[in-house]
Amino acid sequence: MSRIVCQFSCGAASAVATKLALAKYGDRCVILNAFVKNEHPDNRRFLADCERWFGQPITVLRDEKYGADTIEVFRRHRFMVSFRGAKCSTLLKRELMDAWKQPGDVMVLGYTAEEQDRLDDFRERFPDRPILAPLIDAGLGKEDCKAMVERAGIGLPLMYRLGYDNANCIGCVKGGMGYFRAIREDFPAEFEELCRVQDEIGPGSWFMRHRSGPLKDQRFPLRELPAGPVRRNESVPACGFVCETAEALYAA
Ligand code: SF4
Repeated sequence: MSRIVCQFSCGAASAVATKLALAKYGDRCVILNAFVKNEHPDNRRFLADCERWFGQPITVLRDEKYGADTIEVFRRHRFMVSFRGAKCSTLLKRELMDAWKQPGDVMVLGYTAEEQDRLDDFRERFPDRPILAPLIDAGLGKEDCKAMVERAGIGLPLMYRLGYDNANCIGCVKGGMGYFRAIREDFPAEFEELCRVQDEIGPGSWFMRHRSGPLKDQRFPLRELPAGPVRRNESVPACGFVCETAEALYAA
């Protein structure tokens, strides 16, 4: 019988998607997580709490080539992110998954009710790929998932409690200006580390763009991020194994 693979990303949606899959498929489920050094350490506390909630162990994959460290990926590849996707996500998550997966595996995607269009895109792109989207089947949105986790007596990851949209790395390269202003305020050391990498690599690593004015569409380094609205809750795509694969292909 094929395995049901739940990708647990230390986010509320993936936690509830996993719980629903376990309720339906029980022992056929395998729960996977990729450790990334640059996430907030509280993500590991959340993982341990969820493991107890699931009543089943979570298999944690950990990259060794880059020390599971996004900064090391950026340094060695002299690249951070583009419309095709983020190098860190590809190397620290997707490639581990590719090496681990078996033919016939059914992937559980943590798309929420608000993300029906992303699921439709995925199915259109990969009609032969077996997937389940239990949150959409149950009509559950992002806020429902957070509430369900809390009702289970589990504190949400600290990044959520600080007001961020998900529990991605501190200073996720998929973030925009409002998000990075928040990171600059809340996590100055991590922000500075990203600035230093960009200093080393140069303009090829700049991913921020001016939105308006005479410099509209020109890229600039994080170090020159202008003052402006701070948006902790700015929407930043969650970082998983499969969604990133699909989105990179959409953009290709
Ligand atoms: S959360 Fe963001 S920074 Fe971290 S691996 Fe994913 S894309 Fe990269």
